Amino acid sequence: MSIATVNPATGQTEKTFDPHSDEQIDAAIGRAADGHRALRAVSVTERAGWMKAAADLLEADRDDIARTMTTEMGKTHAAAKAEVTKCAAAARFYADNAADFLADEPADAGAVNAVRAFTRYQPLGPVLAVMPWNFPLWQVMRFAAPALMAGNVGLLKHASNVPQTALYLADLFHRAGFPTGSFETLLIGSEQVERVLTDRRVRAATLTGSETAGRAIAQIAGRELKKMVLELGGSDPFVVMPSASLDRAAEVATTARCQNNGQSCIAAKRFIVHADVYDEFTEAFVARMSALRVGDPMDADTDVGPLASEHGRADVEEQVADAVDRGARVLCGGQRPDRPGWWYPPTVVADLTPQMRMWSEEVFGPVAGLYRVSSYAEAVEVANGTAFGLGSNAWTRDPDEQERFATDLDAGSVFVNGMTTSYPELPFGGVKNSGHGRELSAWGMREFCNIKTVWVG
Ligand code: NAP
Repeated sequence: MSIATVNPATGQTEKTFDPHSDEQIDAAIGRAADGHRALRAVSVTERAGWMKAAADLLEADRDDIARTMTTEMGKTHAAAKAEVTKCAAAARFYADNAADFLADEPADAGAVNAVRAFTRYQPLGPVLAVMPWNFPLWQVMRFAAPALMAGNVGLLKHASNVPQTALYLADLFHRAGFPTGSFETLLIGSEQVERVLTDRRVRAATLTGSETAGRAIAQIAGRELKKMVLELGGSDPFVVMPSASLDRAAEVATTARCQNNGQSCIAAKRFIVHADVYDEFTEAFVARMSALRVGDPMDADTDVGPLASEHGRADVEEQVADAVDRGARVLCGGQRPDRPGWWYPPTVVADLTPQMRMWSEEVFGPVAGLYRVSSYAEAVEVANGTAFGLGSNAWTRDPDEQERFATDLDAGSVFVNGMTTSYPELPFGGVKNSGHGRELSAWGMREFCNIKTVWVG
């Protein structure tokens, strides 16, 4: 895959980049190793000053970098601007909280026959970050803000279709004042990742992306005995029970499925609705999905822009065609418009069966699958019935059901009566094939720390 900006709204290639040579990669890793020595030597307070400067720069650059993101991967400009604002907030969150998250944690010295004993959090070194295009700034920032605040440094291999956003990120941390080498962008294809991860100076890896990429990285990291965090795909359930506020559930369902043009790992993808309210929910949901405005992502009135790539659109089309061939019904959408670019309309598909690809695969576009269930037990069985376990949603006003869903849904998060979202204050990650490890909160920061035991007799 070439490293290039190709505008999904037009299909036009706007800019191409030469991949970095082996010598350039080597030099970048060298700068990262030096940068790590510099960054770990300064106080958390000093790092916090730079991180806050990065937040200020993000806000100052907001419209321009948002436009770049829209041009590179098609999200609406409004969504891109919101993403920039979210990144600035996360940078400030870690600037404000890192000292607490990294503070020595005393243990009961008497119980371990010590005069004093405690846990100390120390950085690991250069961390390779392999990142996806769908939230091209946020996915990187949620790794970089805690990592840099802990004294680690980042080597970014971004998705090949967002090179300008990738270069912006390295420039951002440089302008904010971080020491040289604190954050390096490598313009490399996926075939060059092994070279970086096997370098002894690179101490760990984080990957956000597909299961396939996760397996590839995990094999290398496993062989090299390097720590890794994997944030992979999802096919989040959105369960609607009879006591739910149906209109609110239908409204949030629409946003949850179509945010980011339907290309979010934690988008609700499977809508599992109790038979008592199935018809009413379906009618409200289809009406809202049909009413979304598809169009120019730079236009403030647009709800849904194009998909990010031609092959991404082809995947979605094939999944819907497979379901229809096997007897599913399309309640709205389902036909691509006849125009240049990689458009696909908000679509609802009903009558899914386990033989259809949509039943078990992630659909990375604005396509909702509807499932009718007749009990709480069946809802949980269908919800847990895929290989994924990233986020999950349950809609019920019954306190007993709320508690049971919180326990029974096999996922990294359960959001009751609200949309699955990531917050810097809460851990984020998955179980099963959705990956392992956590980002965000203190948990995310400590993933790339040596959690060191200190015992003093
Ligand atoms: P992808 O194809 O896996 O790409 C993600 C990153 O991995 C890109 O930088 C890509 O580089 C690289 N990559 C791909 N194959 C690789 C390999 N064999 N070895 C090393 N690196 C490799 O994923 P995508 O289609 O861009 O993104 C969508 C997927 O990401 C969905 O499954 C989505 O659910 C998941 N995702 C998960 C989260 C989460 O937090 N759990 C968040 C967002 C997205 P190239 O671009 O050069 O191929």
